[in-house]
Amino acid sequence: MSISLIGKSIGESVTLKLNETAAILRDKGDPVIHLGGGEPKSKAPIDAIVAATGMLNSGEIRYTPADGIPALKQAIIRYTEEYYNRVVEPENVMASGGAKQAVMVALQAILNPQEEVIFPCPYWVSYPEMAKLCGAIPVPVKPEDGTFYPRLQDIEQVVGSYTKAVIINSPNNPSGAMYSEKFIAEVVEFCEKRDLYLIMDDIYHRLIFDGRKPINCWDYVKDKTENSKLIIINGVSKQYAMTGFRIGWAVANKKLIEVMTNIQGHQTSGPSGLLQRAAVGAINGIQSSVASLRTTLENNRNVLVGRLNAFDGIHVTKPDGTFYLFADFSNYGKDSTKLANFLLDKVQVVTVPGVEFGMEGYLRISYCGSIKDVMEGVERMKWALDPNSPNELYIGDRKLVRDWT
Ligand code: PMP
Repeated sequence: MSISLIGKSIGESVTLKLNETAAILRDKGDPVIHLGGGEPKSKAPIDAIVAATGMLNSGEIRYTPADGIPALKQAIIRYTEEYYNRVVEPENVMASGGAKQAVMVALQAILNPQEEVIFPCPYWVSYPEMAKLCGAIPVPVKPEDGTFYPRLQDIEQVVGSYTKAVIINSPNNPSGAMYSEKFIAEVVEFCEKRDLYLIMDDIYHRLIFDGRKPINCWDYVKDKTENSKLIIINGVSKQYAMTGFRIGWAVANKKLIEVMTNIQGHQTSGPSGLLQRAAVGAINGIQSSVASLRTTLENNRNVLVGRLNAFDGIHVTKPDGTFYLFADFSNYGKDSTKLANFLLDKVQVVTVPGVEFGMEGYLRISYCGSIKDVMEGVERMKWALDPNSPNELYIGDRKLVRDWT
């Protein structure tokens, strides 16, 4: 069969595949603990439900403008003012089918084949594949000091004549690291000076712990005109626990948004009007669910970090935000895919192999589920990996016996 070169170059989304595997095993009755997921388990805010139900009951759900309904754009404009102190117009905003589509369409609008897009390691699994979908070259950059916190010099070292854009995701999936204000300021200034696009993927910016405040990248932009090449990405998926609603957005200069809207118009005609209504409800509604989600996640993080620290041979960096922790398991296996498969096979715990995020030897552990799952998941992992574990482990009334060393 003849398949395009680009089509052939794209790998499957490992995180989506793991969701599927976990669901199949659960349906079979296996006691799976899913520490591989990327979605909060709380319910969508009531304001989102009321807004969408009202529209659904009307029975009139039609095409919308490709860049989003005016009410959603207004909500995004207000959000942008609140969190970025940036006053934008409707022409600066495009709503999309999730932040994922917003990033993808932004890349399609700016990248030519063979141009390069830089992002720090570890990175969200989709960035390399999205760059490849544009015929462009992904350039992941590993912080030289071995931490999850890149420095400007790391990025400077890989910038060349083909570089078109930098993507920054902070707090970061998968490490949970929130980059310093100093770094954000430097990277904004650097991209401006080098005339590079800067995609700021802020999808987790409100899910931060220990009293941290979201960092406003716009503060550091010098040229606050329509020439600015800063693209801000955000959405309702994580902060409002609305992953299945598939609404995200981009805020950028008007020319770029026009081009992005043209592209999106031919791809999907824009996101569903019904779900845009729900997003308006969430963004304009009572915000208490965000605070309570943040508190739950922070508690889960504390428990997870405590449990993992009692686990010999694992190197843990405490996450500053998100609902992921990225731990170094290389003492237990250099091949993270093998290790994740081993844990799934032996103790039915789903984790995501670090290699998918550009760092071999690590596993990503999500703590967006229940505290009970987090605790039991780590206990099972410890039992499977620690050679000093007792020979047997009970999962409910199921007895597991170690047949490995
Ligand atoms: N950016 C990052 C870093 C993410 O982790 C995700 C979701 N996993 C997205 C963007 C996309 O989010 P959505 O499409 O659900 O809005």
